[in-house]
Amino acid sequence: AKSQGRNRCLLYSPDMARRSLDKLKLEQGLSQAIQRQELELFFQPIIALHSGQLCGVEALLRWHHGERGLMTPDKFIPIAEESDLIDRLGRWVMRTACQQGQHWLQAGFPLTRLAVNVSVRELRASDYIEQLQGILDETGFPPERLELEVTESIMQQVDQSLTLFSRLKQLGVMIAIDDFGTGFSSLSLLKSLPIDRIKIDRSFVQPLPHDRHSCELCRTILTLAHNLDLTVTAEGIEQEEQYHFLQQLGCEDGQGYLFSKPQPAANMTDQWDRRIHG
Ligand code: C2E
Ligand code: CA
Ligand code: CA
Ligand code: CA
Repeated sequence: AKSQGRNRCLLYSPDMARRSLDKLKLEQGLSQAIQRQELELFFQPIIALHSGQLCGVEALLRWHHGERGLMTPDKFIPIAEESDLIDRLGRWVMRTACQQGQHWLQAGFPLTRLAVNVSVRELRASDYIEQLQGILDETGFPPERLELEVTESIMQQVDQSLTLFSRLKQLGVMIAIDDFGTGFSSLSLLKSLPIDRIKIDRSFVQPLPHDRHSCELCRTILTLAHNLDLTVTAEGIEQEEQYHFLQQLGCEDGQGYLFSKPQPAANMTDQWDRRIHG
């Protein structure tokens, strides 16, 4: 009986109980966050490396949590993905991003690319395409300016991805593979799927330009991508020398704290003015 008690202690340690309670609370909080208007999209500028000009923005989700303050998505997206919440959350993100994008276009800002992160879980919903079409119709945002960022894990189911991506291309939207190099990737798949862009993961960019291994990796990814007629965005550029190294390799676009951190929509107006008119 004593050893059983001990086993039970191992299975249900107070620490684990606290963690699952935390998770439950977050899940409950998240399910109310939309109505309570606690969610906000931040936007990070995407810069054309050859000119230094703003060529787009990526929408990044934030949650203003009553007790925990401003939360980044790594703390709550996984929880949403484990439940059905991700579908509602994803629809909110897409609608809000397209509304904001349309608002900027109407105000005369030349927004050419609005990048929105889409969870692989969301894409599995049978009515995803119809939902997206509905949001595009409702907001009026031009589909050719919308880019969906999807992680490599989507490629694990090739046949399904091919069908899905083809339907997305029919809608007119662009597709980028996010965090490229960190997950499951197959070069032949890159070729067979209708993809427009890859985004080099921050973990390969940050050691540049002094780490030989990372330099070689970035060079290889860029050569491969260009051979396949894909454009490339480098993530997490924090230093001038990383910028110049990638620029010399012909990397088209970049994002990172060197240019700007993700910011509330209202702050973007300055960015347009500064980055476009000098
Ligand atoms: P991601 O799509 O790879 O986004 C880039 C992340 O790197 C963002 O973190 C951004 O704030 C951060 N970042 C940008 N530049 C730099 C830099 O120079 N240095 C460093 N250290 N970090 C930089 P964030 O906003 O916390 O988002 C984390 C992840 O959460 C995103 O990674 C994306 O996978 C996911 N995510 C964000 N918004 C959404 C969303 O609306 N829907 C879904 N499904 N996922 C989202
Ligand atoms: Ca992304
Ligand atoms: Ca990324
Ligand atoms: Ca990431």
